[in-house]
Amino acid sequence: MSEPRKLQHFIGGKPVEPNSGEYFPSTNPATREVLYLAARGDAVDIDAAVQSAAETFLDPRWRDLSQTKRGHLLRRLADLIGENAEELARSESLDNGKLLREMRGQMATLPEYYYYYAGLADKIHGAVVPTSDRQVLNYTMREPLGVVGAITPWNSPLTLTTSKLAPALCAGNTVVIKPSEYTSATVLKLAELVIEAGFPPGAVNVVTGFGAEAGQPLVDHPGLAKISFTGSTATGSRIAASAAGRFIGSTLELGGKSPNIVFDDANVANAAMGVVAGIFAAAGQTCIAGSRVFAQRAIYDELLQLVADRASSIRMGNPLDEDTEIGPLAFEDQRDKVASYVDLGRDEGARVLTGGRATDAGLGGFFYEPTVLVDVNNQMRVVREEIFGPVAAIMPFDTEDEVVQLANDTEYGLAAGVWTTNLARAHRMASRLDAGTIWVNTYRAMSPMSPRQGFKSSGVGVEHGTETMKEYTRLKSVWINTNEGPVPDPFVMRS
Ligand code: NAD
Repeated sequence: MSEPRKLQHFIGGKPVEPNSGEYFPSTNPATREVLYLAARGDAVDIDAAVQSAAETFLDPRWRDLSQTKRGHLLRRLADLIGENAEELARSESLDNGKLLREMRGQMATLPEYYYYYAGLADKIHGAVVPTSDRQVLNYTMREPLGVVGAITPWNSPLTLTTSKLAPALCAGNTVVIKPSEYTSATVLKLAELVIEAGFPPGAVNVVTGFGAEAGQPLVDHPGLAKISFTGSTATGSRIAASAAGRFIGSTLELGGKSPNIVFDDANVANAAMGVVAGIFAAAGQTCIAGSRVFAQRAIYDELLQLVADRASSIRMGNPLDEDTEIGPLAFEDQRDKVASYVDLGRDEGARVLTGGRATDAGLGGFFYEPTVLVDVNNQMRVVREEIFGPVAAIMPFDTEDEVVQLANDTEYGLAAGVWTTNLARAHRMASRLDAGTIWVNTYRAMSPMSPRQGFKSSGVGVEHGTETMKEYTRLKSVWINTNEGPVPDPFVMRS
């Protein structure tokens, strides 16, 4: 058998050997086959990448490029991603075990993010501000920050990287990316496409490797102007502390334990499919997973039956097969974590209505059956903590007030689903739920145009839409005195 190929870092527009000389394997979680070896980055590699990004930030080829031309580059990058979409989708599916169908869908929408920010590039500007003195002109400028560090997880590698990269480049920053150690390949390919699109070498750099060895040095690097992170709440908290200590901004997209609420006036069949989509799509490995399901008492049994029937008939298998509906967890520890949470749930008194077993699906990989837990309550750890796997906890409720209290009784606030045909109730719930994204009669909808933000332990700062541009720019206020007459009193402040 031939040696797996080696993937180097991407620094200054070209592949670069890791300082350590070491590589680590990336494995297909469906089959345990080693796909490639990725460079094991360390603080020396990070330093080289930040230097390269810092030099490019000041390089006139980038700094003096018109905003319109920045938009052209982003548009060209979008085109190239579209041309390479099939390769990128297959590569992500092999790396993290998500369905090829789903990754094809993600790659089909990925160019839209770059087109969106391409269109925005020449619409970033300040404003003239009226002051009390008509002879003084005050105006604001929105400037890029400098070198942005981007750290991303494995569950949707390119989509989550793009949420940071597209607005960061749109604003004129340069970027150093540390992708997840489980999914290095497509982010490296994206960096090549950035160069092919015509961005200067050093505009986007990628250092692969582990969190402690490559991620932490990036976070702590004095050359960073900002850190943008998507990942677990525990890591996010450490990153926020480090950024705060150096007074740089951080955008943090973190974990969740989102409620999916079904009222008795809902279309129950559709709601059941929404519950299935919310927790079993991507094997539950999404930050927005609707892992806490609340069903109003009158339709509780019906919903349970529909969800359990669909869950037990979900086709598990190779993510590359067209008819597979659920693939493996992304790696062995993740599968073991899911299994141990279900065992914990059993110990806490939960009943496994369907699923509840690890399997290799005949492929040798890290699969776990779609699982429905009942006889659960909001105090159990299995209901409070993020599992990041295909495990739904379904609970009955009686009144709107009660379910608002239950849904909001969590440390997280990423997203929430509501299923109802009552218009007034839909708006009331949207207002009362303590989460950054509310879906009514749908779940998992996302768009580059729509801003999103995690509340509470789910994050800080906004991604997507025009709002995120504030995260990647700084505001400067310029005062120009047009009065050339004598200064009457130097001890009185002027406006
Ligand atoms: P993780 O926090 O373990 O790792 C995320 C990234 O951080 C990886 O690249 C990792 O190498 C790096 N990292 C780890 N320790 C670090 C450190 N000390 N310093 C710097 N970098 C470090 O998270 P994960 O397991 O890869 O991803 C799953 C988590 O991500 C879940 O909690 C999920 O909810 C969350 N997530 C959130 C969103 C969102 O938009 N809110 C989206 C997807 C995933």
